[in-house]
Amino acid sequence: WEKAEGRGKEERIYVSVRLRPLNAKEIARNDPSDWDCINNNTIVFNNSPPERTMYPTSYTFADRVFGCECNTKSVYDEGAKEVALSVVNGINASIFAYGQTSSGKTYTMSGVTEYAIKDIYDCITRVQINRVSLLPFLSWFTLLAPQFLQQDDREYALKFSAIEIYNEAVKDLLSGDSSPLRLLDDSERGTVVEKLIEERVRDQKHLKELLNFSKAQRQVGETYLNEASSRSHQILRLVCLHHILEFFNYEKAKQNNYPSVQNFVDLAGSERASQTSSGGRLKEGCHINRSLLTLGTVIRKLSKGRTGHIPYRDSKLTRILQPFLGGNARTAIICTMSPARSHIEQSRNTLSFASCAK
Ligand code: ADP
Ligand code: MG
Repeated sequence: WEKAEGRGKEERIYVSVRLRPLNAKEIARNDPSDWDCINNNTIVFNNSPPERTMYPTSYTFADRVFGCECNTKSVYDEGAKEVALSVVNGINASIFAYGQTSSGKTYTMSGVTEYAIKDIYDCITRVQINRVSLLPFLSWFTLLAPQFLQQDDREYALKFSAIEIYNEAVKDLLSGDSSPLRLLDDSERGTVVEKLIEERVRDQKHLKELLNFSKAQRQVGETYLNEASSRSHQILRLVCLHHILEFFNYEKAKQNNYPSVQNFVDLAGSERASQTSSGGRLKEGCHINRSLLTLGTVIRKLSKGRTGHIPYRDSKLTRILQPFLGGNARTAIICTMSPARSHIEQSRNTLSFASCAK
């Protein structure tokens, strides 16, 4: 995790693609699998009838492509871990799952969140135990070699919050109340969600409980779960407060509180961002999701190097995430896709989004 601090500016958006296996429904209707990952960086269209050759038949990504045989642990280890742990070093970070409905966003994101939370917790505890157990020894030792304390001189506290954005209304997933929350502009912190519950995390078990509670809240009252989850964004947030401890000036250090934030974002289905199919026809009955559309624009602009106006303020999602996108923040986007022929248009859209995001 020390490595996170040293990464170059241009590497800040880490983009990976995850291909899921065909599901039972797709197999039952003889939906063929169109895509293969031929190595860790390249995904190819394996079935190329003449009318489809106007599209690229292979996509290469600098970061990582995960084939359907890869489990979520390896997706986390290679696609998100470094970004997740940067929060412990005081760097803001966000991990997104992007893809059409049923492509595996929630499946991937919930696994990634669990692994990340465990790692962040282990990391924090290890640092604190080291510090406490070495304290008597170190106070003498630092006189001789002050740099020895560089990793072990912090004290941590975590806060957790969870929101959902549905039709541009923001809802707190930790409160029983479903009335929409307002966004306020704070001169110091940027955009904040008014009255958002931020729970102080007691331990890892407590964090698990909070996670499960917000998951249950998201499902409350959803008669048509798929419809709602295809339209809504979920942001789980860990705020990591840490004091940099100065050995001989402890009181002063106590006032130095550096919060850093880790967002886990399960996005609305990406079919909500494209008005036309890739064949150019206008799609019927597809409600464009303003937050998703704006996020796409923001990410494309950021990946091109922040020139010109970046329209953070055009949607709730991008307003809330503005302090954690761009600047010094670290971002990982995991783009999920189905291999099935019937999803080819959306799969191409996802791959072209992934190409632009990098
Ligand atoms: P989304 O959130 O994008 O709409 P889900 O995460 O709900 O999609 O996934 C749809 C279904 O596919 C779920 O039943 C899920 O368990 C399954 N699934 C998704 N990705 C994988 C995968 N990589 N391996 C096995 N099953 C998966
Ligand atoms: Mg989902």
